[in-house]
Amino acid sequence: MAEQNENKGAGAINNGAAVSGKPVAAAGGQAAGGGRAAAGGQPQEVWTIGRILKWTEGYFKKAGLDSPRLDAEVLLSYVLKKERIFLYVHFDQPMEAAELAAFKDCIKRRVQHQPVAYITGHKEFMGLEFKVTPATLIPRPDTEILVEAVLQRLKAGAEAENSLIADIGTGSGAICLSLLNYLPRLQAVTVDISPEALAVAEENAAGLELSERVEFLQGDMLEPLKAQGERFSGRLSAIVSNPPYIPRGDIAGLEPDVRAFEPMGALDGGEDGLDFYRRLLADGAGLLQADGFLAMEVGIHQAQQLKALAEAMPQWGRCEIIRDLAGIERVVVLWKK
Ligand code: SAM
Ligand code: GLN
Repeated sequence: MAEQNENKGAGAINNGAAVSGKPVAAAGGQAAGGGRAAAGGQPQEVWTIGRILKWTEGYFKKAGLDSPRLDAEVLLSYVLKKERIFLYVHFDQPMEAAELAAFKDCIKRRVQHQPVAYITGHKEFMGLEFKVTPATLIPRPDTEILVEAVLQRLKAGAEAENSLIADIGTGSGAICLSLLNYLPRLQAVTVDISPEALAVAEENAAGLELSERVEFLQGDMLEPLKAQGERFSGRLSAIVSNPPYIPRGDIAGLEPDVRAFEPMGALDGGEDGLDFYRRLLADGAGLLQADGFLAMEVGIHQAQQLKALAEAMPQWGRCEIIRDLAGIERVVVLWKK
């Protein structure tokens, strides 16, 4: 069904190109969203920005996408290389043929559930622009809760901003680069197992002019830090991580956008989803300063399990749990004892 719609849609848009001067409905039929038939000799209609947005919204809705209007606007502003507000001020502007062709390609990809951020190649996070590729998880708004929590705690710390933190499983670098951006004297070391993700994170660091304050290490969780012995042992003010945490059995039930397009190595947290937390809890305290903390994003129902794991370990003291905007326990902060 989606395939059918898509073909119709593609035809409709092609034939509606402003430059062709043909009415939209000539080949697209009703799917074109109100274009009048040429045969009857009615007035011709062109694809203006306003009209194409309306049509795309309806098409995305039919394809079962969650935020059809927003997706249409983000993709169209990407194609036109303009801010979203531009669309509203130029509702009546006709689309060029090349713009229509590029937008049609975006529509095709989106109805196959490719995430908008992989189509545009970037995502906003903490007010900053991050490049993303299919090798990196798309940074989530939930993760901003983790960043805010860490910012607050680092600012409140005696060392102010003059400290070193580690971001484990950095992906696009969203977490640690945001922290560095908002704390101008902070330094960071980041780890990811994926060289492709690290390459994107390095590009993001360069784009945000933060490269001088961040080091990128490829490897397995805390291993690259432990391997450097004295250099990191007992030195870190904080360890921050949004590790893969989806229980393996839940992966098949994820949204198609996530399941089919985001990197599995960024999602799969093992049998119960807690594999990576066990490792962070086992090795983290040794790398932290006396007043250091380990801050982690967690999945639904995992915060209390993590708290219980930490309570059974002598090296962890106070445990703070922070909820997200939906009221779900989303961040766990463990202080070294
Ligand atoms: N920090 C980013 C964010 O919040 O948007 C990405 C988080 S993503 C959920 C988890 C990241 O951990 C992925 O980039 C993945 O490549 C990385 N990862 C998976 N297994 C790892 C391991 N054993 N050691 C280090 N990083 C790992
Ligand atoms: N928040 C992501 C999702 O549910 C999962 C990220 C993770 O495993 N850390 O799509």
